[in-house]
Amino acid sequence: MNSIFAIMLLFGSFVSAGSLKSLNNEKFPLQLPKLEYATDSLIQAVDKETMEIHHGKHHKAYVDNANNLLPKENKKVIQVLKSISQYPAGVKNNVGGHWNHAFFWKVLTPDVKKQTMPSRLQKEIESTFGSVENFKAEVEKQGASRFGSGWVWVIRNGDKKLEITATEYQDNPLMDSAAVKGTPVLGIDVWEHAYYLKYQNKRADYLKGIWSIINWKQVDEFDREALKM
Ligand code: MN
Repeated sequence: MNSIFAIMLLFGSFVSAGSLKSLNNEKFPLQLPKLEYATDSLIQAVDKETMEIHHGKHHKAYVDNANNLLPKENKKVIQVLKSISQYPAGVKNNVGGHWNHAFFWKVLTPDVKKQTMPSRLQKEIESTFGSVENFKAEVEKQGASRFGSGWVWVIRNGDKKLEITATEYQDNPLMDSAAVKGTPVLGIDVWEHAYYLKYQNKRADYLKGIWSIINWKQVDEFDREALKM
């Protein structure tokens, strides 16, 4: 194989590995994805031990439990999520837990180049929420006020508009049971396991801190993809 061809293949796999489509079309048995960065590379916002436990223990448990609960599932993950009301709560928690975390790892990055919001996305956010500051404040507000465990999301809703919503436990806006449905373009885990070692009870501080490690390049790509779905 010549090296240019190898590079093209490699590039192709990076593009598809980062897509919503690849997350949605995963088949069973589910796989714990490798992190694309070191667990100590996000310490300005999330400490190493939290990353290790969160990925290696919590996420792994969702994967293992989902595979144990659905040993012969032939559907893609997205098909299970879109018909989740027909499954028991354990499936909802664990398949949801897997999709949510696989998505979450992708919207974080230590790469400063990816931490700059692309101008297209910035304009979209400004036209929808007035300003990036307003947008961040609303995400923080919904994330901080989500009682107990859950997630705060930025989605493209049914009208293809950007919308902020929060869900409980491992629910997400792709599920047929969600009160507000849409395609996630950003999601932030607000379970205590996501922040407690560094921030203890101060969830609002965690939410303020996490902006510094958001992969806006990836969010922009998810958003472009969501617009076509
Ligand atoms: Mn989590």
